[in-house]
Amino acid sequence: MAARADLFAAYAECKANDDAERCEQIAESVRELDDAIRAAGVRGRLTPLDPPPKPQKRRSTRRRQDAPNLPRRPVERRTVGQVFGGKYRPSTFLTLTLDSYGRVDAEGAAVDPDSYDYRRAARDAIHFSALLDRFWQNTRRCVGWDVQYFGAVEPQRRGAPHFHAAIRGTIPRAELRQIVAATYHQVWWPAHDERTYTPDRPPRWDSRAKAFTDPDTGTALPTFDEACEDLTDPAHVVRFGQQVHVKGILGGTEEAGRHVGYLTKYLTKSVGQAAGLGESATERQREHARRLHAELAVTPCSTRCGVWLLYGVQPHGARRTTEPGRCKGKAHKPEHLGVAGRRVLVSRKWSNKTLDDHRAERTAFVRQLLDQAGIRPARGVEDGPYLWETPAPGDTDIPPRPALLLHAVAERQRWKAEYTAAQLAASDPPGSGSSATDDQAA
Ligand SMILES: [Zn+2]
Repeated sequence: MAARADLFAAYAECKANDDAERCEQIAESVRELDDAIRAAGVRGRLTPLDPPPKPQKRRSTRRRQDAPNLPRRPVERRTVGQVFGGKYRPSTFLTLTLDSYGRVDAEGAAVDPDSYDYRRAARDAIHFSALLDRFWQNTRRCVGWDVQYFGAVEPQRRGAPHFHAAIRGTIPRAELRQIVAATYHQVWWPAHDERTYTPDRPPRWDSRAKAFTDPDTGTALPTFDEACEDLTDPAHVVRFGQQVHVKGILGGTEEAGRHVGYLTKYLTKSVGQAAGLGESATERQREHARRLHAELAVTPCSTRCGVWLLYGVQPHGARRTTEPGRCKGKAHKPEHLGVAGRRVLVSRKWSNKTLDDHRAERTAFVRQLLDQAGIRPARGVEDGPYLWETPAPGDTDIPPRPALLLHAVAERQRWKAEYTAAQLAASDPPGSGSSATDDQAA
């Protein structure tokens, strides 16, 4: 194999120099070597000298992800909406939900768990953030300005994610509904409806072929890209549900405050807690959560997910340590209910501030809090004046590296303790936690 790699390098060099004769000689040697390698019993694919021409990606109209029926306006370079009456620039509060998967009771548990579509619920949850991305793309194209938003992904009691967003500016309700209805996301992954393997009879890692193989025949499973080559249909299509809540609000009003509350209410809770799966959950709720989790456990969460091996496909990055059917992805964990990514989604130009601005604000906030709690922070960089100089190598004043590291760790710990103390001093006694989503979109 090392010889083969050397020949490869030589081949690339000759090819770059247009030395066709030497190229042909090397190719001949590689062919001989490959025959020898095969004779030695090595299975699997040997990289060809010249990569075969990439098969023309078939671009069928079925692969389009845009929403062809929406009006399109050129996107202007503005991030805010219209001003009304010379001074009012209302904002829009939007709630997007997913489809219904079956009837649920007041606690959000399936009335008939056997007919409730847990599979679609799990897939929709896993691809929800991709659907949101599509939605913002479509929205910007359709309304014609660079729409900015601050939003939060929250679970409903039934365990499905929904999305609250504050949009800077107004977009007509009818237009938003039209965009929501036209938005969809196709998942062009290999089909994953029937499991070919089980954790008891998993595909086996073949260290010579560096691939997962069928435990009976020893043939290598298709890689993820191979399995995607001949797809004619997406494995899943996710769309929003019928419930779309749109509300225009003016900054500084009581209503605005309430809606900002929706955005921040659950951020400190885990998704499972926020969905009401706490101590007081009913038996039906637990059963509902259990079934949803069972489905999420066998739904691949990404192209690198170890769950793919159960469906006879090698995920991207498959290696010896990949455990068939196992994945550390958050999406599979019961407390995340399929919501794997970030839960706060903010568009890039929302705050008009740079990272340095945010850092400075955070510092100011922490100092203020410490000040309120009567804690005098240790010296910071801003507290100079200092004289900085680069030490010469071998300077005996410099403590050894381990001492520097330990000092830095100790300093961090002290900061953290001071900050926690200040927070405790500033906070009210903890209030009684409210249960699940009780707003309009449940
Ligand atoms: Zn996964």
